Amino acid sequence: MRQILILGAGTAGTVMANRLARRYRRGLARGTTTITVVDPDPVHLYQPGLLFLPFGRYTTEHVVRPRSAQLDPAVRYIQDRITRLDPATDTVMLGDGRVLSYDVAVIATGARIAPEELEGLTGPGWRERMHDFYTLEGAQALRDALARFDGGRLVINVVEMPIKCPVAPLEFAFLADAYFTRRGIRDRVTITYATPLDGAFTKATCSRELQYLLDAKGIALETEFNAGRVDGPAGELVSWDERTVPFDLLVSVPTHRGAEFLAAVPDLTNDLGFVHTDPRTLQARRKPNLFAVGDATDVPASKAGSVVHFQAEGLEENIARVLDGRPLEAAFDGHANCFIETGHGKALLIDFNYEVEPLPGHFPFAWGPLPLLRESRLNHLGKLAFRHVYWNALLPGFDLPGVPSRMKREGKAFPSAPPPLPGPGAPLAR
Ligand SMILES: Cc1cc2nc3c(=O)[nH]c(=O)nc-3n(C[C@H](O)[C@H](O)[C@H](O)COP(=O)(O)OP(=O)(O)OC[C@H]3O[C@@H](n4cnc5c(N)ncnc54)[C@H](O)[C@@H]3O)c2cc1C
Repeated sequence: MRQILILGAGTAGTVMANRLARRYRRGLARGTTTITVVDPDPVHLYQPGLLFLPFGRYTTEHVVRPRSAQLDPAVRYIQDRITRLDPATDTVMLGDGRVLSYDVAVIATGARIAPEELEGLTGPGWRERMHDFYTLEGAQALRDALARFDGGRLVINVVEMPIKCPVAPLEFAFLADAYFTRRGIRDRVTITYATPLDGAFTKATCSRELQYLLDAKGIALETEFNAGRVDGPAGELVSWDERTVPFDLLVSVPTHRGAEFLAAVPDLTNDLGFVHTDPRTLQARRKPNLFAVGDATDVPASKAGSVVHFQAEGLEENIARVLDGRPLEAAFDGHANCFIETGHGKALLIDFNYEVEPLPGHFPFAWGPLPLLRESRLNHLGKLAFRHVYWNALLPGFDLPGVPSRMKREGKAFPSAPPPLPGPGAPLAR
């Protein structure tokens, strides 16, 4: 009997459950294999849609679907919260006290936001003049606040890295520029983007391109801004080094943390609760029969749905290898692929991995059709199409034609000779 347990049924848990269900179809039918997924929330949320919801471009119906409908019928779904993981006995405990054992467990509990960790953020003014858009309730409240907003200082602040989809707050700033322009009140709104980074984005090449766009759209950039507290009634965001950014409407991307029960497991996670994970095999460092995937890991890749897709193939293989007692493959190369919505019907596209920064060129083939690191209408259409790809190809765990798990080098304009392909244990560019 082979018992595979998946902790969390968001993007990563669902993709892995569906892929493994196909791989072990026969064992599942004979009853020699079980695949169980646990998640307390009966609704699957398409998180990339939360970017568009505040601007009225998507409705709630566009972004939510029943969780169980996304899972292969051979997968057992338990709607409950995991309260404890015990690697010593290979068991987890659920909210109702049940104990489940496993041969292999995959931690896919994602990242949660912790707005209460910034002093004052959830105090007076929260969800009135201080908002987030990383939760459904937050995005809905922000949609109503934006509709009421008819001029003043809009501030977008990233409290701390890492965050999910590191480009999403920048996209929010670009879309806000387009939204206020469309409403004819752009001249009455100032937009400021305050980030703890020393540039607009985590990757230098991309940061330069995005800085140009921020300038062109009249969006002020406050770098190395480490938020220390918020004063809602006074409308002030204050950094640890006492810089003050005044606001009428604050859009915060709060501190991210891993699931609470993980932090209670000795030696499993870092300070933020993300699982110590081998960046190439995705095996948790704590125990060989534990893996982690998606936002739950501490690997230096973006926390993005596209990354989950690129991790899935190698992880599926490594789970089979652990069950069969074979050595693991160092399959994941840090591949990430993100459309960056820049407003007015355009978007950039970036494609990179642990070794290669976002470069200009073409995607997915050497000739295109999508340009890399350059604004285009086609990229915007690609971003909109991602929702259909997500529900119909990514979540079911299908491979995408022309887009392999490992980053393609063809089509990219390397400034000099491309770096050599890494071997196992090669150092990672951060
Ligand atoms: C605003 C926004 C925009 C984004 N845009 C993009 C984009 O354009 N492109 C892109 O690729 N990615 C984007 N992302 C990121 C993407 O949504 C995430 O990276 C992806 O969902 C990660 O999948 P995951 O399964 O690791 O985490 P999640 O999908 O968050 O799933 C985690 C699951 O674990 C469950 N869970 C948590 N605790 C427990 C527990 N104790 N017991 C059981 N279950 C538990 C949760 O209920 C949840 O269902 C965006 C995210 C946001 C917020």
